[in-house]
Amino acid sequence: MEIMGLFQVLPRLVVFDLDYTLWPFYCECRSKNEKPSMYPQAKGILHGFKDKGVNVAIASRSPTPDIANAFLQKLEIKSMFVAQEIFSSWTHKTEHFQKIHRKTAVPYNEMLFFDDENQNIQAVSKMGVTSILVDKGVNLGALRQGLSEFVKNSASVEKNKEQWRKFSKEPGSSKSDAQ
Ligand SMILES: [Mg+2]
Repeated sequence: MEIMGLFQVLPRLVVFDLDYTLWPFYCECRSKNEKPSMYPQAKGILHGFKDKGVNVAIASRSPTPDIANAFLQKLEIKSMFVAQEIFSSWTHKTEHFQKIHRKTAVPYNEMLFFDDENQNIQAVSKMGVTSILVDKGVNLGALRQGLSEFVKNSASVEKNKEQWRKFSKEPGSSKSDAQ
């Protein structure tokens, strides 16, 4: 919460991978009957976003959504997520994000994403989502990095808009020539 308070601009939606991002295992290798546990700081981070009014969602390519869902229930976090896209896919989560975008109507550049696989990070960041590669799951270090990169990216989006406004107002620019 304290870390989130340091940032003036927060994302509207934060999307998390499951395996090796929220919890330290592949859930396809586990049994539904087991009692799962998360990375130590993951639950606090989810609640921190909720308390700040930031929505959270899941994008997972797990081939066992039934086990993933059972674990989300057991951890008592399932109801926190406004969208839960859990399905295996040949794309590197671009399909997951299209679905999340359709469901939530949040623009890609107002989302923040945490995942432990570089290919997912590369693909999703090309869509305009600020995407952070995590090493040992999501923790306060990753959170700080994610929020500061989000601020940097949204500042450059604003700057581009401003430059475009200036450009289109200048006499002799292509836009006024056309009119
Ligand atoms: Mg993962």
